[in-house]
Amino acid sequence: MTERIGFIGLGAMGKGMASNLQNKGFQLNVFDIVPEPVAVLVQQGAKAAASVAELTEASDIVVTMLPGSPEVDAVVLGEGGVLAHGRDGMLLMDMSTVDPETTDNLARRLPEQGIAVADAPVGRLAQHANSGESLFMVGASDADFARVRPLLEAMGTTIHHCGAVGSGMRTKLVNNFLAIVSCQMNAEALTLSTRFGLDLQTTLDVIHGTTATNGQLKINYATKVLTGDTEPGFAIDLAHKDLTLIVNAANKAKVPLPIGAVARESVSLARSTSFHNKDFSALLDHWCERAGVKAPRL
Ligand code: NAD
Repeated sequence: MTERIGFIGLGAMGKGMASNLQNKGFQLNVFDIVPEPVAVLVQQGAKAAASVAELTEASDIVVTMLPGSPEVDAVVLGEGGVLAHGRDGMLLMDMSTVDPETTDNLARRLPEQGIAVADAPVGRLAQHANSGESLFMVGASDADFARVRPLLEAMGTTIHHCGAVGSGMRTKLVNNFLAIVSCQMNAEALTLSTRFGLDLQTTLDVIHGTTATNGQLKINYATKVLTGDTEPGFAIDLAHKDLTLIVNAANKAKVPLPIGAVARESVSLARSTSFHNKDFSALLDHWCERAGVKAPRL
């Protein structure tokens, strides 16, 4: 039997991921509270659902790619949501980055009605979601992993089965701790080099030639802020959300995360300004503004 797929949340990531699914042979029902990306998917052959309820009733697997825990809770557990309209044999795959306790709660409640749960948060950037080159960190039983694997293969190139439900989300928090802290450190380093009057390209050549190099600088800075493109991508608001999830989860697990806590507050500064909805590589522009230097460009 061909699985019928419902995809909820067609933002910076979800639009590209859903497009790859639709264009690689899956028949999608799609839903978002914003009409524009829905229209793009409909042009590619997807069917627009009028509500989460309608989408759920027409799907065997429901994929969610929403901003965070409040939206996932509302869409899955809320009135008119996936749980209320789902049925035995369905599977929910949440690909958003949320509090692991949100995932654990879904994994407790949905199976009571026969709905299986997998968490599959996404690594890499929006550009990779568009090109079908994402990385996935999956928490699922072996059987559920086998069931969602064809979808993941259509959306990305790299799939890691991290363990039981919830382990994908926890792996994602560990990964994003390093990714977002690196982004903040790059902002501070390049602000300092600019104030010193150093040549940007020479500085980057030196960093990329030593162990100071990092993927944020190599891939994200190189293709986004340093070319003058600060449209998200991954928004500073979402980076702040993730660092908050990370610091809170570490706190609950009694793991001190001093660098994470400082980085969260640094990103809080940027979030309180007009940079909040810019790409997280624009932490550089924000830091330059605070230090009173002109943001460098390649
Ligand atoms: P986004 O804000 O661009 O997209 C979220 C989408 O969800 C929007 O289209 C919004 O309209 C929709 N939405 C919100 N509430 C809804 C509701 N109640 N019902 C239906 N649709 C609703 O966010 P994004 O950048 O696509 O990120 C999505 C998730 O993936 C986040 O958890 C983020 O942390 C994570 N993530 C993002 C990136 C990235 O580079 N952008 C990379 C990896 C993971």
